[in-house]
Amino acid sequence: MKAINTANITHDQQPESSWQHLLSHCFSDPVSLAKFLQLEADQLNFSAAASSQFSLKVPLPYAMRMQKGDSRDPLLLQVLPDPRELEYFPGFVTDPLQEADANHLTGLIHKYQNRVLLMLSGACAINCRYCFRRHFPYDDNKIGSQQWQNILQYIENDNSIEEVIFSGGDPLATSDQRLDKFITQLGKIKHLQRLRIHSRLPVVIPQRITDHLCQILQTTRLQTVLVIHANHANEFDHQVSAALAKLQAAKVTVLNQAVLLKGINDSVESQKRLHTASFAAGALPYYLFVLDPVQGAAHFDISDSQAQQLIRELQRQLPGYLLPRLAREIPGMPHKTLLAI
Ligand code: SF4
Repeated sequence: MKAINTANITHDQQPESSWQHLLSHCFSDPVSLAKFLQLEADQLNFSAAASSQFSLKVPLPYAMRMQKGDSRDPLLLQVLPDPRELEYFPGFVTDPLQEADANHLTGLIHKYQNRVLLMLSGACAINCRYCFRRHFPYDDNKIGSQQWQNILQYIENDNSIEEVIFSGGDPLATSDQRLDKFITQLGKIKHLQRLRIHSRLPVVIPQRITDHLCQILQTTRLQTVLVIHANHANEFDHQVSAALAKLQAAKVTVLNQAVLLKGINDSVESQKRLHTASFAAGALPYYLFVLDPVQGAAHFDISDSQAQQLIRELQRQLPGYLLPRLAREIPGMPHKTLLAI
């Protein structure tokens, strides 16, 4: 990854570069990020030690939505390596969902009935500090041509599989050509009905939603759902809305899932703004997850009772279609677990 050159970029300027350029030229050092945000580097609560474990990575279009001069900006705090990541908290582990047990084939996780998840890319456009896969062994799960043949065979041999989920990393970090090949081959498996893509790229680099990608998604016979990931209303702007409109025009159902994060979106007002902005941009609120207990993210955690209280209040204030399902993932359970409200 190349360092970003901010010399000629103003905060209000919209980047015109290709998504590939934006993906390979992210902010990776706190000094240039601070300068871009009109802060002194020592105003950022940056930990080099935390960054050496899980690096700072912020794409330009996302950084442009951060408030200048605000070291507590809610988008910044989601991505800034923090000294608290190095503290030990009992119960916070490297594989909180115990996905290794369901990693049946290289690149494939089969833990729910009727659905398999493929780790299409180990790369992400952004490094979110609370990510439950921040310690995932992506290098052991690279899908080359042999692994892909094995995956196709596995899906073909199991008539119960109706849905393939592209995950990662970020599956849209891979090229349109590769996606086209995979989707075309999956479309030939008769018992498959749906393709779901989980990606943060439409939010953090909306330029990723190319005409070619939309054409690929529109022409597959598989019903396609794209689940974006935004945690704060400020993550939406007119470029994100334009990207989601292109997806909708390609007959893709767009949903948003969010993670409940202390200090970022744990107030009623912040949640109301998030789900309202998500819907306005074209993504229906889907899940609101409580934090997975991943090592390094405990400072984002809030209790279940606080989460339940929050969603009860939201239920009073929002129409039903704007209310996400409050859920957590429990290792070994055959589905997400909804938290009673
Ligand atoms: S984009 Fe998704 S997979 Fe990548 S670091 Fe963020 S939460 Fe994790």
